[in-house]
Amino acid sequence: GVPEVPVRPVAERRASRRIQVGPVPVGGGAPVSVQSMTTTRTSDVGATLQQIAELTASGCQIVRVACPTQDDADALATIARKSQIPVIADIHFQPKYVFAAIEAGCAAVRVNPGNIKQFDDRVKEIARAAKDHGTPIRIGVNAGSLDRRLLQKYGRATPEALVESALWEASLFEEHDFRDIKISVKHNDPVVMIEAYRQLAEQCDYPLHLGVTEAGPAFQGTIKSAVAFGALLSRGIGDTIRVSLSAPPAEEVKVGIQILQSLGLRERRLEIVSCPSCGRAQVDVYKLAEEVTAGLEGMEVPLRVAVMGCVVNGPGEAREADLGVASGNGKGQIFVKGEVVKTVPESRIVETLIDEAMKLAERMEQDGVGP
Ligand code: SF4
Repeated sequence: GVPEVPVRPVAERRASRRIQVGPVPVGGGAPVSVQSMTTTRTSDVGATLQQIAELTASGCQIVRVACPTQDDADALATIARKSQIPVIADIHFQPKYVFAAIEAGCAAVRVNPGNIKQFDDRVKEIARAAKDHGTPIRIGVNAGSLDRRLLQKYGRATPEALVESALWEASLFEEHDFRDIKISVKHNDPVVMIEAYRQLAEQCDYPLHLGVTEAGPAFQGTIKSAVAFGALLSRGIGDTIRVSLSAPPAEEVKVGIQILQSLGLRERRLEIVSCPSCGRAQVDVYKLAEEVTAGLEGMEVPLRVAVMGCVVNGPGEAREADLGVASGNGKGQIFVKGEVVKTVPESRIVETLIDEAMKLAERMEQDGVGP
């Protein structure tokens, strides 16, 4: 499981209310959770549950499913019941699907205020149904579907416009004494997105769902999300995250987990400290790092493994890590917990490192480190 106390928190977390998305707490100092969204037709229950199972295996903690048709709404009850992780129904346009999702036992419902036209007069009923079922609501404002009134007022989806839209919508729920809410204000431009969340964080105490919308293909989207989430999380802002990539959803989860680990908001598992290589390198560092990463994939204990190309920084870094290699002269000096345990020819570096890592992992597991 995810540790309740972060290993090395990057910043004091912003104080926020706590909501429960099924068994997963969001806000109020709970560990930042990672979520994703299925890409299957929700009405295809088998395919959707299959993808949810894959997402669960990749470490996803909350999953969102789209609900654009009655067939999708009809599928929600089975999906919510059979999913291993809490399911959030994502509703645009139709309030009737909001009721259906709540009735179906979804762990939360995401609504987009800009898109639900006759939403305002039905807030009271939605608030009552949600309260009766203990279902939290995410108010998900999106730059691409901003309320027309606010678009006219601000000219475009500025941070102020996004925040005003979200807080206005929240106020409609508050009028009915409903505060089981989390908020997102997504934009595809990290600069606008960061500013929007910064302002929102100051103006309310709701937990915040971070996302850069339409972030792009894997490479660009990963960087945009890492930069934007990093800027916010490093100020303590953000309670749950979703990386949006034009790539399989399990990739989004991997990136999300990695972002949290980089910021010390998640316990680091396997971490490879490898040098970028340079003219001094005496081995093929890229190949070595790749082979060691592949060989240790899935390792559950926190292990820092240094792979260094030469003896300049090599021994220093290798000593700092749990385990490492510093190469030179066609040989590798293998370090374990700061001590040189052996020197092996280049061809045996990878297998020796993996071997030593396994031994170390076994020892750590016996000592109760790791899951
Ligand atoms: Fe270059 Fe050696 Fe540093 Fe690697 S460890 S970047 S090879 S100086």
